[in-house]
Amino acid sequence: MRDKIEIVKGDITKIKVDAIVNAANTSLLGGGGVDGAIHRAGGQAILEECRKIIARQGGCKTGEAVITTAGNMPAKFVIHTVGPVWNNGKYDEENKLTNCYKNSLQLAIANNCQSLAFPNISTGIYHFPKKEAATIAVNTVSQFLSETDKIKKVTFVCFDNENYELYENLLRA
Ligand code: ADP
Repeated sequence: MRDKIEIVKGDITKIKVDAIVNAANTSLLGGGGVDGAIHRAGGQAILEECRKIIARQGGCKTGEAVITTAGNMPAKFVIHTVGPVWNNGKYDEENKLTNCYKNSLQLAIANNCQSLAFPNISTGIYHFPKKEAATIAVNTVSQFLSETDKIKKVTFVCFDNENYELYENLLRA
């Protein structure tokens, strides 16, 4: 599966894939970090679709995912998933982060996406330990890709050097 996984350093809003994943929050109304960058780059259309989802189902639960347009960005869709806030691992954070990756991949397939890009979910404001988060990301995506041929490429977009090196080491192993 290694040949279907790519690691890049940079800004996920610039990546041209079928769907980029947003590390959103349960309100779906936007926030800081990658969420803020995605709403700024994509424009008003994303928030408009988020508001419709909120009206229908009242936001998005931790570990789950919803999909909207990518607005003005080169990607076609944004898959918004809500990572867990790290709380010393006492609140099932590992499983919740695993579910973010699985549910995003499933939603991508349901919308005929063949390529998607993930940020380092939960490793910013939500303080999930970066090494553990990278291990969960790589293992969950690798496992998923070994079970389907519908997804052709997954790009991990690392924003900082520490994450980039963690992913490099994990994928070299
Ligand atoms: P969370 O609340 O899930 O921790 P953050 O947005 O704070 O979400 O951080 C998630 C990760 O996204 C962090 O590693 C952060 O450095 C990274 N990040 C921030 N801006 C961007 C961006 N424009 N493109 C890709 N990754 C980004």
